[in-house]
This record gives sequence, C-alpha cells and structure tokens, in this order.
Amino acid sequence: MNNQQLVQRDLQVMWHPCTQMKDHEWLPLVPIRSGKGVWLEDYDGKRYLDAISSWWVNLFGHAHPAINRALAEQAEQLEHVIMAGFTHEPAVRLAERLVAITPDRLQRVFFAENGSSAVEIALKMSFHYWLNRGQPKRQRFVSLANSYHGETLGALAVGDVALYKETYGPLLLEPIIAPAPDAYLTETGESAEAFAERRLEDMRRIFTQQGDEICAVIVEPLVQCAGYMRMYHPAYLTGLRRLCDEFDIHLIADEIAVGFGRTGSLFACEQAGISPDFMCLSKGLTAGYLPLSAVLMPDSVYQAFYHDYASLKGFLHSHSYTGYALGCTAAHATLDLFEQSDVLARNRQTAARMRSAVEALHDHPQVGDIRQHGMILAIEMVKDKASKTAYDWRERRGMRVYQHGLERGVLLRPLGNVVYFMPPYVINEEEIALMADTAIAGIEAATAA
Ligand code: PMP
Repeated sequence: MNNQQLVQRDLQVMWHPCTQMKDHEWLPLVPIRSGKGVWLEDYDGKRYLDAISSWWVNLFGHAHPAINRALAEQAEQLEHVIMAGFTHEPAVRLAERLVAITPDRLQRVFFAENGSSAVEIALKMSFHYWLNRGQPKRQRFVSLANSYHGETLGALAVGDVALYKETYGPLLLEPIIAPAPDAYLTETGESAEAFAERRLEDMRRIFTQQGDEICAVIVEPLVQCAGYMRMYHPAYLTGLRRLCDEFDIHLIADEIAVGFGRTGSLFACEQAGISPDFMCLSKGLTAGYLPLSAVLMPDSVYQAFYHDYASLKGFLHSHSYTGYALGCTAAHATLDLFEQSDVLARNRQTAARMRSAVEALHDHPQVGDIRQHGMILAIEMVKDKASKTAYDWRERRGMRVYQHGLERGVLLRPLGNVVYFMPPYVINEEEIALMADTAIAGIEAATAA
C-alpha cells in the first residue's frame, strides 16, 4: 500500500476531527504507517518530526519499548473489567500514585476516558457537592476568556474559543467569563505579574457580586493551549486560590494539556504553590498511548456524597471504559519513566535549546511575541509588530506554515497565527534545530506577502 491508495480509501469513508473535509481537495492527508521516537513515517517512507506530540499527548516518543512491553504483559492478564462493583490492581495502584504526586489537597481519584469527560465530571461533581451540602442556588461556573476545556457540551460551554463554540451557542449552559490574565495583553511597561493582579480584581468583583451562585472556577493553569498558547504569570493562580478560599468556591485546575511536565514542573499548579479542589488529568497521563483521564479531589468532596443509597446523593456517573486496566498500565509505565530519570531536569535543557533556536525571530517584523513555559514555546505572527495587529484569520497564514513544515518533514500545526512547539521530551539537539529552522523558514514564507 502507498500513500495515495490509503488516502483515496480514507476519503471515501472517514470524517476527520477538527477538519473542514473540503480542505482535503487541495491539502494532502498524511497517512502514517509507523512511529519511533519523535518520528512518524508515511506509507511512501517519508518521515515527519512530530513537533506537537500528536495533539500534546506524547511524552517519551512513539512506540516506546518499555511502554510497549508493559502493555503486552498486561493484555495477557486483564484488558478491562467493569469498574462498578469491581476493581483491579493497576487502577488502585495508579490512584495511589496519582494522590502521592499531585498537590496536597487531592486525595481521591475518579477515572474516566478522555479529557472532555474529566471536565464534565469535575463540573457535575462540583455542582452536585453544593447541592448535597444544601446550597442548590450554586449553579454557575466561572471560566477565563479564551479558555478551552474540550468539545462535549459541558466542557465546550465553559470554554471560550469562538471558533469551536459559537455555532453551538443555543445548546450550551452559560458560564460567567472573567477576563484572562494573558500576558500578551499587558499594557506597555506593565509586568505579567502586575497584570495578573489586575485581573484578580476582576475576579474579586465577580465573586463579590455573584459568589453565592457560583459552584467553581475552571482554569487551565499557566497556558491556555488551544486558545493560541497564551500564557500567564503563576501569581494569578496563587491569588485565585486565595479568592476561592475566601468566597468558598471550588477551583478546578484543568491540567489535561499542561500536566506531566509540560510547563517545567510536574504539574503547572506547583509553580503557584497551590492545590486546586479538582484536578483534571489526561493526555500525558499515558504518555500518549491510550485514552485515559482522572479527576482528583479532596476527601471532603467524597464525604459529601457518602450517604445511604436512598438519600440519592451518590455520584451516578459512568463511562464504559472507566479506569480500564490497559490504560492504567500505560500510565504506570509513564510514571516509571519519570521515576527512572530526572525528566524535568532534561526538559529544562531542552526548553533552553528550543528558546535559543528561535532567537533569530526576535527582531522579525512579523513576529509579535515569542513566549515559553517549559516545553511549550509559541511564536505569534502579526501583521504589525508595534500595534500587535493580528492577520485576518481568512488569510490562513498558519496553514501556510503547516504546509511548509509537511514539505520539509516537520509536523507543525499552528493555531491560527500562532506557530508553536510542544515536542516529545526525547527530542534531541539536532531535531530541535530541524524543527526550529523549519518553523523559521515557514514563518518567513507565510509572512512574505
Ligand atoms: N482540556 C484541555 C486544557 C485540553 O487541551 C483538551 C484537549 N486539547 C481537553 C480539555 C479535552 O481533552 P480531550 O480531547 O481528550 O477530550
């Protein structure tokens, strides 16, 4: 089989995610036969460097021998069993390990299958907690402008990226949207930290006016990934934790994209020295191997649901594959890799290399910002540097960078006008140079006219 044959068959039967399928009349679909480390290989033998960790999930490279081995062994023993009324060692031990490595307050684990369902669980559980505690008026959620929490209706509703959300507006519950501490939006001369403090004032106003109607605030700690990789200062999280304590409102940390070392610490919340009331994990939880997610919460939340059956206070939420054994095994193999070497220390070096590899773009007239939190680096292409005027989205400048990357064997997948790197942690110096040089040339080409 070659590329063309598989693409032809695909376009007869498949419908791809986050894609206007008509684009594939001119944009080649890339059929991948195999992966190894940071590399993907198509059916014609062409290789692509996976600079975006296949939608931010892969941590230690494709087809990792240790994870493969662990999965093969577990498959011989038990792949999955219903998790209502039953349990198994990989799930119990994973819950123990997650409680041990996440911030203090988090003591219980509810497993699900993907990021969006973890967000749904945190939202439902927070609302239900207040109901069980005799506060039925708390029915609203607060989220940040430009946030993203997934595509199912609840998760989509608390997000704020118009491209994904606007069409479905009539179907969605309405969150209170608070202005984001996005450091790209600072006034001239204002520090990201001072800006974060200013945005906390906005949150205080919302809490003061509507606090008794609010269940929880949901945030992506430090980086709004799908929201064009916008970043903010950890002081915002520290202040938000204080406000949530003061007004008795839950703080939900959606660490689905930033967890497991992406921002420099194992969890982004650590950089603010805080513990949320709910933490949602997925993606890197299995190093990009299998879909699995987990929601962690304090024992006090668990206790609010712990009653006689007839009280109907139980959390009767389920997904078929909740906590499945193979997914838990991939997570164990992932956590083992974190234990076997100082991944975060190596990432610090890799992150510094990524930064210096794009230093040449600093003075580029069409680059408005280069920002980084650990292993996430983003470059904002702008029409006018001084005023930070954005390119019209219809020009699809990011798409030009994507095509340029594919031609040269690098999978970059810009978000609008933002080109970013979020590679597997195993990327080496030479591969960083290839990734960065390809992005620089792509940006030159995409902004030339
Ligand atoms: N939250 C965040 C912060 C995410 O980045 C994503 C996925 N990009 C999700 C939730 C949804 O996860 P999933 O795609 O697994 O449903």
